[in-house]
Amino acid sequence: MSQKNSLGFGIVVHGGAGAPLEDADGCEAAVRAGRRAAEEGADALQAAVAAVVVLEDDGRFNAGSGAIVGLDGMTIEFDAAVMDSNGRLGAVACLQRVKNPVLVAQAVSRSPHWLLAGEGAERFARVAGFPAHDAVHDRAVHRNRRLVAQLRGGQPARHGVDNESFRRLWNYPTAWPGSEPGDRGAACDTVGAVVRDGEGRFAVACSTGGSAPSLLGRVGDTPIVGSGFYAGPEGAVAATGVGEHIVRHLLSYAVYQWIEQGMPLQQALERGIDLFPDEIDVGLIAISCTEAGSRSNRCMAASSSER
Ligand code: ASP
Repeated sequence: MSQKNSLGFGIVVHGGAGAPLEDADGCEAAVRAGRRAAEEGADALQAAVAAVVVLEDDGRFNAGSGAIVGLDGMTIEFDAAVMDSNGRLGAVACLQRVKNPVLVAQAVSRSPHWLLAGEGAERFARVAGFPAHDAVHDRAVHRNRRLVAQLRGGQPARHGVDNESFRRLWNYPTAWPGSEPGDRGAACDTVGAVVRDGEGRFAVACSTGGSAPSLLGRVGDTPIVGSGFYAGPEGAVAATGVGEHIVRHLLSYAVYQWIEQGMPLQQALERGIDLFPDEIDVGLIAISCTEAGSRSNRCMAASSSER
């Protein structure tokens, strides 16, 4: 067990495994927002949410306003989650037409449930006061066209998955789309934040537009407790990368447990990344009573602050 001599406020944010390092200024802005919120009296969970809202609104990350579009070229399905060491837990999966999915996940944490999905999640968002918001932007549409072109070609668009399976199992209400030449592969770039507040409480918040290519209704690790995120009395952890692989390791809970058992935080992050073959994008951030850090097997825009 680590000592309970907490260092005071600390925050780490990431812009996703694969997020270019030049987008780190977006992560720095998110860190500032989380810190500012804490200075104004926010607890760890509120500060983590404040940071993730900035990343969702940035437009460069695969979350909120920057989310990727589904293979049909028009549907965006968001996953998001929040958790803290006081037992607060809320998540949304396959949520459509909202601006800030992480705020809806936070609202779910105050509801009788921990996870709402699909149409019910969207209806809940309206009841909770979140207006309908259409987030599809041109960049996402163009990126999708390139991805569809890749699916038609020989190079796998998702590691270890036969391109043809997306056409064979196609479940969008529209027909299989046409293609344009292109080169871009699977997309990741989820966002996340982990926070330790001045009272020694821990929280995590994360948000994503999912991982491309995906069938309609696909849910990754981001809204799954213990996989994409975990927070407890000894720290908080968030994961990014290909959800189908991350869930199989309950990655965030595994890393949390190593930290809880006294493993140095950086070593716990490295051990988590080493669970995956090189071809699988994966990244982690974590914070404990005494340490904070990030690790990825890809470039990963990230930023942190401790005092
Ligand atoms: N983990 C996310 C997912 O699989 C994607 C990401 O982290 O970039 O939905």
